[in-house]
Amino acid sequence: DTKPPKRITKVCCVGAGYVGGPTSAVMAIKNPQIQVTVVDYDAKRIAAWQSDNLPIFEPGLLGVVKPARDGIPNNRAPNLFFSTDVDRCIAEAELILLSVNTPTKMLGQGAGHASELCYLESAVRKIGEVAESSKIIVEKSTVPCRAAETLRDVLRATGKPGVDFEILSNPEFLAEGTAIQNLLEPDRVLIGSLNTPQGLEAARALAAIYTSWVDAERIITINLYSSELAKLAANALLAQRISSINALSAMCEAVGADIDEVSFAVGLDKRIGSRMLKASVGFGGSCFRKDILSLAYIAESLHLFEVAEYWRSVININEYQKDRFTRRIVRCLFNSLSNKSLAILGFAYKKNTGDTRETAAITVINNLLAEGANVRVYDPQVKESQIRRDLEGSSASPHLVRDKLTVWSSTYEACAGADAVVILTEWDEFSNKSAAAAAAGDHVQDARNGARTEEEAANGPMSWKRVSQIMRKPMYVFDGRNVVDPAPLEALGFRVESVGKSRSG
Ligand code: NAD
Repeated sequence: DTKPPKRITKVCCVGAGYVGGPTSAVMAIKNPQIQVTVVDYDAKRIAAWQSDNLPIFEPGLLGVVKPARDGIPNNRAPNLFFSTDVDRCIAEAELILLSVNTPTKMLGQGAGHASELCYLESAVRKIGEVAESSKIIVEKSTVPCRAAETLRDVLRATGKPGVDFEILSNPEFLAEGTAIQNLLEPDRVLIGSLNTPQGLEAARALAAIYTSWVDAERIITINLYSSELAKLAANALLAQRISSINALSAMCEAVGADIDEVSFAVGLDKRIGSRMLKASVGFGGSCFRKDILSLAYIAESLHLFEVAEYWRSVININEYQKDRFTRRIVRCLFNSLSNKSLAILGFAYKKNTGDTRETAAITVINNLLAEGANVRVYDPQVKESQIRRDLEGSSASPHLVRDKLTVWSSTYEACAGADAVVILTEWDEFSNKSAAAAAAGDHVQDARNGARTEEEAANGPMSWKRVSQIMRKPMYVFDGRNVVDPAPLEALGFRVESVGKSRSG
């Protein structure tokens, strides 16, 4: 098609969450000629987006939001807006991004498995009701296969005559903690459309927005339903790698092998690659579990039972890993946690985010409380109220959370008098590895990374020497993220238990 793509000037993003906020901010900063408005019914969240105290913690986020939202004198006018006026903003937009939540369904058929589409449905009903002109509607939320068909059905029933809607799939692949970097330099942008003239034209209009900062060869236009499924597939495969390495970590502990060395060795095979092969206490986050459950549910509804079982095993291993980690703590601490104190370092599901959805910490801490432990939590980004809400909402005995859990604002306070330190999030400040080794992070699985010297550590955010002076003996470190190099800690008298390594080995 040689006709230039339709030029979009007004975008509305429905849903001001972890995806909607950052995605819209990057789209706005890179397209000063487009007005981008993010809407949400959650007035508190919108107010936070309008302030300098953003509702989510994400490195680099304010640096993108602020200039787009507030403008730069003599340079650019504001073109990023946040609003609770959903109707007006939808009515004015030519292109609408749907970034609402699609959590696991809690009620009725498919409860605990299927994706809950009620938020998506209600956003689309609203579009049908208020739209006076034709719109391109973009699924940014992660959706089950053929969700676009459902949305089209809703629009057909609610839309006004003469108002046309074209639905695209443009799944978001950002990872929390690195969202801005991922959005600025995406591996790919997927745009799925129907293979009709209108569908292809809409896809070109959306692609044109991305072209202002993404190389054309990274913008992939594919079939609508392939695009929907590709997002579920990507998350399923990422989680599957983690479960695969975690399953191997159990074997390493049993045979005296070292999972970091195994990961490093297999990751050098170019067909395998080194990313996402880090053993841990288990994955968390709002997406992996729910998207695999959704994928398995779809497979089952298509009578593909073996396929469903295959993907569910990824989740089963993850649950197994969290429980195995707790059992190891109990075993090492002489089979009883009764009135022992455990310092929990990290509550977020990974570093550089304050997000706690599905964090492994919830399962592990509830298990530890059930064993009679006193739990002392510190996380640099998660507030006490959030920690209590998460634990009380998920615990079979919420009184244990009230009676036996305390939240502290530093590592040292959390560790005072503790029998063990349990690292559940890989925040850099907990690592005793050198800055270079820590920065290499996920990319380099070199188990021989250099350790931070005690001098470096003492000047840094955390000195393990100081921790060793305030704990009860014997002192254990259960490293659920393999962020500490055991040797220097052992020299200080710690007994270090890492995932996928046996101390005797
Ligand atoms: P979120 O819960 O942080 O944000 C969703 C927002 O949508 C909420 O603020 C909610 O109030 C709002 N909302 C719901 N219904 C609405 C309606 N009808 N009108 C206006 N606002 C409405 O969720 P999130 O983490 O941003 O995820 C959104 C989607 O993106 C999900 O489908 C998720 O699977 C997908 N996704 C998430 C990530 C991630 O890292 N969080 C990455 C890729 C894709």
